Amino acid sequence: MVSRVIPVKPFDLVIFGGTGDLARRKILPGLFRRFRAGQMPAGARVIGCARTAMDDAGFRDIARAAIAEFGGPERSDAAGLAAFLDRLAYVPIDVTGEDGWRDLAALVRADVVRAFYFSVAPRLFGPIAERLHLHAIADDDSRIVVEKPFGRDLRSAQELNAALAAHFGEGQIYRIDHYLGKETVQNLMAVRFGNVLFEPLWNNHYIDHIQITVAETVGVGGRGSYYDGAGAMRDMVQNHLMQLLCLIAMEPPARFEADAVRDEKLKVIRALQPVDPQDIVFGQYSGAPGSPSYRDDVENPASTSESFVALRCRIGNWRWAGVPFYLRTGKKMKARSSEIAVVFQKLGHTIFDEDMARHRNILSIRLQPNEGIDLQVTIKDPGPGGMRLLDVPLDLTFAEALGDQGEPAADAYERLIMDVIRGDQTLFMRGDEVEAAWAWTDPVIAGREERGDRPQPYDQGSAGPDDALMLMHRDGRRWRDIKG
Ligand code: NAD
Repeated sequence: MVSRVIPVKPFDLVIFGGTGDLARRKILPGLFRRFRAGQMPAGARVIGCARTAMDDAGFRDIARAAIAEFGGPERSDAAGLAAFLDRLAYVPIDVTGEDGWRDLAALVRADVVRAFYFSVAPRLFGPIAERLHLHAIADDDSRIVVEKPFGRDLRSAQELNAALAAHFGEGQIYRIDHYLGKETVQNLMAVRFGNVLFEPLWNNHYIDHIQITVAETVGVGGRGSYYDGAGAMRDMVQNHLMQLLCLIAMEPPARFEADAVRDEKLKVIRALQPVDPQDIVFGQYSGAPGSPSYRDDVENPASTSESFVALRCRIGNWRWAGVPFYLRTGKKMKARSSEIAVVFQKLGHTIFDEDMARHRNILSIRLQPNEGIDLQVTIKDPGPGGMRLLDVPLDLTFAEALGDQGEPAADAYERLIMDVIRGDQTLFMRGDEVEAAWAWTDPVIAGREERGDRPQPYDQGSAGPDDALMLMHRDGRRWRDIKG
């Protein structure tokens, strides 16, 4: 089997916020892995930019320490690390001021791919875009990468889009949602659109419902004040869960190309119906012995922000009429698990002497941990004990068959950064998509505020508040177990 990796051209990747948490945790270790995989051609460089005054050597020390702390087994490759660090440079810039930009302009080369990663707070996106333009550091071929959160409502997202659009075309803007960089998300599209088996069944005639769960075991960590101002609806549902919903529900694009895919995703968001207040549950984790409550974690004893949300929504189009989509996400839950489950309908007629409601085909797409896709199928329980039926998972990721070429170690960030260098926007959110997602989310948040709904407490290590379970039970359905 021959591995086909699309090559990249020489590049200068400038990381604003190059000393920050995201750069140290994800971007620098990810770039080192790509370097070792031969995807940083001769002449490819990484330039860190942040406020701290230091030289190239200082930044290389930061990168070395970051790779030692957050890298994988490859960090023991001392020679490789030294060669990678040689590709790093640093320019101190306070991006709200005028100093340092000329130094950056002198360093960034005109004859390579130029990419600028805005790994800083969103309020700095506009100032950076403006100065890159003013100092002619970026041109019409350059790319910019921006991080979440992309706004906290429709209005602020529109303002961010406008600030970027003043200096960059939409074809140059790469809005990251790292869920889209997961191997399995792309495999979902390959499985769905590369096989004749699934697409004919992918509709309300054969699918009973779809569940999307993103459960975390961590609390709000060090992000308390940001998180408390956002809540799970803004922090998770508006972006990650909506993106997964789009990929699972979209119509087949005419080609696997950025705008063709994103046009179809946008149609899904626009077809989403408003959420009925009966169909949404907000939760907040309680304290447990030795483990603080949400309110303690965010140091806000009166907080009404949600650390959990579960909702039922519907997509108003022919394909999905009558098919509920159940979404849930939360912190301090029983396991760390992200999964999309496509639950097919039960058989119309059974020839077996069994309760066939027990047997369902379920396509489950796991994003973490143990990324993979499997299809639950019903077979005969082997052996001479008579005709008994058994449900077993059919592994569609074929890790064994693919051997090393499955490259499971590649992280979402490094994959997405390489797509930026290649100029492929397929796995990035377009401006109109983000705005449409906020246009759907805003009324859900506003409705809750108007009603004064308070979040329901839930136990740490549980599956969320009881009402979240009821959301499905009342429809005669069950959430899938949250398994790590
Ligand atoms: P951070 O606070 O750890 O780092 C911020 C970086 O920006 C630092 O390098 C700092 O020096 C630099 N900076 C701040 N003000 C500056 C200025 N005026 N001029 C130049 N540099 C300046 O933040 P982070 O966690 O790395 O997050 C960066 C962005 O990525 C944020 O938008 C955040 O929401 C987003 N994000 C982070 C994570 C994560 O895991 N850390 C995950 C998803 C999204």
